[in-house]
Amino acid sequence: MRVLLTGGAGYIASHIAIELIAAGHDVIVADDLSNSSPLAVERVRRIAGAPISFTELDVRDEAALTALFEKESPEAVIHLAGLKAVGESVAQPLRYYDVNINTTLTLLRVMAAHDVSTIVFSSSATVYGTPTALPLTEESQVGVGLTNPYGWTKSMIEQILRDAAAADPGLNVVLLRYFNPIGAHPSGLIGEDPKDIPNNLMPYITQVAVGRRDHLSIFGNDYDTPDGTGVRDYIHVVDLAAGHVAALDHAPSGVSTYNLGTGQGVSVLDLVRAFEAATGVSIPYEIVERRPGDIAACYASADKAERELGWHAAKTLEDACADSWRWQSMNPQGYAA
Ligand code: UDP
Repeated sequence: MRVLLTGGAGYIASHIAIELIAAGHDVIVADDLSNSSPLAVERVRRIAGAPISFTELDVRDEAALTALFEKESPEAVIHLAGLKAVGESVAQPLRYYDVNINTTLTLLRVMAAHDVSTIVFSSSATVYGTPTALPLTEESQVGVGLTNPYGWTKSMIEQILRDAAAADPGLNVVLLRYFNPIGAHPSGLIGEDPKDIPNNLMPYITQVAVGRRDHLSIFGNDYDTPDGTGVRDYIHVVDLAAGHVAALDHAPSGVSTYNLGTGQGVSVLDLVRAFEAATGVSIPYEIVERRPGDIAACYASADKAERELGWHAAKTLEDACADSWRWQSMNPQGYAA
């Protein structure tokens, strides 16, 4: 199948491209490079040993997207284009709603005009808000009391896609709710490369390890969790990428929703220790105040994806730590080096 990846130069999409090509699909990348590097696409070509068409465009630009569909004839789309920094979304809500919602609306119009009827959407566990019971299943409540515009855009886009599919029974929608992606391709050639100070835990840890930051701040150790630090479900990005291939190959027609996580809750201190054990590099840290908007614990039940897609996360936390470190130590300044 010819698969268009919007946001295709980004951290998650670059890993998806490799898994798609390995499974025999063709990959078309569109990305506006606002938070990614063309070098990522070059590296994916190198790893996959396959040509990948790359077009620099903003998915909201309907004329440019139409031209891309006419030139490349995609048969399915994996939609990852969007803004993703939680804190920034609080400061710039209009920009987040504009980019995240309008990319999706434009994409759906252009897909309909070209009879492309399969879309896999990059959603997030953030749509669950503050969990009332763990693990989170696909039936857990969504879209209630979310704490930031980023999360609302994910929840709203899920609803837009459900409504679009209700109006057009030929449209196939797969909503993939990501838990916390970490790790990198084992080659060390591609990985996560935040442009500013990392918001997320693993890139912060690897930047401390490589000497770009002097210590990690742990946001609170008084949560109701086994060691008091926040608990999340960290999934290796290569496993996450494989989940997209499984979704394209096995999701039923109509609308379906899957958690992509490991099912395992891991605390901040657990992750720091796992990283130290996997790499031999020590991570100095300091306990500071809680980060506003953070929840105590969030982890998936990934049973539905196993049952219906035949997919489960196969890599370990140690694999993810070793692979994150390989990427960061081979590319201390990310793609800028
Ligand atoms: N965290 C931390 N220090 C950091 C970044 C994150 O202690 O510099 C904690 C955060 O409070 C949460 C966990 O690490 O408990 C995961 O945070 P991240 O931002 O990576 O993911 P999210 O909160 O979106 O699940």
